[in-house]
Amino acid sequence: MFDMPTILNSAARAASAKLAASLGLPAFEPGWVWLAGAGPGDPGLITMLGLHAIAEADVILFDALANEALLKLARPGAELVYAGKRRGKPSWKQADISHTLVLLARKGKRVLRLKGGDPFVFGRGAEEALELARAGIPFRIVPGVTAGIGGLAYAGIPVTHRDTNHAVTFITGHGIDGKLPALDWSAISRGSPTIVVYMALANTDELAAKLIEAGRDAHEPAAIVSDATHDEQSVRVTTLEHLGRDAKESTAPAILVIGENVRLREGLDWLGVLQSGRTLNPDPLGRIDIKHAG
Ligand code: SAH
Repeated sequence: MFDMPTILNSAARAASAKLAASLGLPAFEPGWVWLAGAGPGDPGLITMLGLHAIAEADVILFDALANEALLKLARPGAELVYAGKRRGKPSWKQADISHTLVLLARKGKRVLRLKGGDPFVFGRGAEEALELARAGIPFRIVPGVTAGIGGLAYAGIPVTHRDTNHAVTFITGHGIDGKLPALDWSAISRGSPTIVVYMALANTDELAAKLIEAGRDAHEPAAIVSDATHDEQSVRVTTLEHLGRDAKESTAPAILVIGENVRLREGLDWLGVLQSGRTLNPDPLGRIDIKHAG
């Protein structure tokens, strides 16, 4: 007897196999490791290749930030291994993860390493892939939608816009030792009008102080997007000088953005329209000359 989830699973798997064949996606060969991005949260944001990998894998090692709803599409009997860092369990060391990937691949398994966002963006995907290269294990990288772009899009904040920023800088607020990394803050501050910060909640006070000291305007708009693209997404719009205070009231995971592009949310918060009937301001930067408009 099949239960309902099993029937749904096999229907979804059959549909995904058909799609994979019609798109000419590569076969997931035994003994290979695929390092794939699951996207920032909304399961709909995984790529076709990522979905194909989930449906075909024998073993899936997944991170805390990869949405577990996606695992429902794994093949029946696939081994699902949580290799994240939280949840009160002893956390996996990076070396253990890489070692496990190598051992499983050597056993001839199709191994999927599923990571939040994009595996090569602040996600140690490159470290894991280098270990595979050293061990002579064949691997494929499947990019994903990164939180610093897709997460902002769900908050109605475009990562670039020609009226606000022709450049964007991505930084992490969390160095190897847990402290703010030792960056050239003067260069970061002048480098581009928009700065997107991953893993910043713990060091936000210091980050904001460094940027203001390096010449950024304390009144410049900023936003904190928590649980981006999940049902629980929350967005706090603030200014650079209040970023530290507001970060303390925000939950992780959170992505920070500093720059004039944050103002565009007034006109682009499409999710706010869907969820609470928010009215959008079609001229969030005050650029349209009212006399000549229309
Ligand atoms: N590889 C991931 C980033 C991993 S680093 C990616 O490309 O998105 C982990 C950091 O990513 C978190 O501390 C947070 O800053 C950000 N992040 C990941 N998922 C997020 C989400 N759903 N909402 C907000 N921030 C997120």
